[in-house]
Amino acid sequence: MAEWPPMTHAHLSLRQILVKIQSVAQENGLEKPVLAVFDLDSTLFDVGPRFEKVLLDFTLQKSFTEQFQEFAEIFQNIKVIKGDWGLKDVVERAGRNHFQKNKIDELKVQNFRRQLTEFWTEKFFTNEYLEFDVPYKGATQFVHSIAKTNADIVYLTGRDQHRMGPGSQKVLEKWGFPVQSPKQQLVLKPHKDIDDALFKRDWFQKIDSQKYSQIWFFENEPVNIHLIRESSPHVNIVFFDSTHSKKAHPPDDLPWIQDFYWNEEE
Ligand SMILES: [Mg+2]
Repeated sequence: MAEWPPMTHAHLSLRQILVKIQSVAQENGLEKPVLAVFDLDSTLFDVGPRFEKVLLDFTLQKSFTEQFQEFAEIFQNIKVIKGDWGLKDVVERAGRNHFQKNKIDELKVQNFRRQLTEFWTEKFFTNEYLEFDVPYKGATQFVHSIAKTNADIVYLTGRDQHRMGPGSQKVLEKWGFPVQSPKQQLVLKPHKDIDDALFKRDWFQKIDSQKYSQIWFFENEPVNIHLIRESSPHVNIVFFDSTHSKKAHPPDDLPWIQDFYWNEEE
């Protein structure tokens, strides 16, 4: 991939964003609230722990012990780090030296990769494993601070209702995110095969923007950001710099944040 251009993104700290939202809310009163929309995976929630739990459970299966015991070393210190995307980044980093050092038969490595991918795909996108997600620093408090301004809060996710609906609701409640009021809504895809970016684009186009004094959207995936920016230019977008598919460059002229922790002194 070509080098990304030097970063010249707008400097707007999280605290400045919050102050902006608070002052807009104050000016517009109850009639025209702010709408704040948050993506879940890799924006409010770090999915690394869920990822690691799926890998651990793969090694606990009987079939792993029987067929792949020589791969166990790979999993001993396996870690999902910032920027990892999908299974490949994590396992290839952990396994590369091991496969070469131990001269493991290529066919066996292929079989191992196939079975791991199948297991991971089957488990990662399920209600059952969502409880291992952990919010990024300050995320819960930040969403509460915005909700306190009478803003409408929407959690807009590429997760689908069938496989991940109840688990998403549960994990938001577990970590104390505001989800109880009618002004707070979780929006999931009705079907897993719908494209994430198109789903989110269409959602933004369908809402009644006139109801709101300002609309904000916090998202980690550049593909989604570029599409929504183009189709709904009135939306204030904040790029959450965690990990993404690398299918598009991150926006270099929008605010970037890496956590939801703000310093009152800033
Ligand atoms: Mg995401």
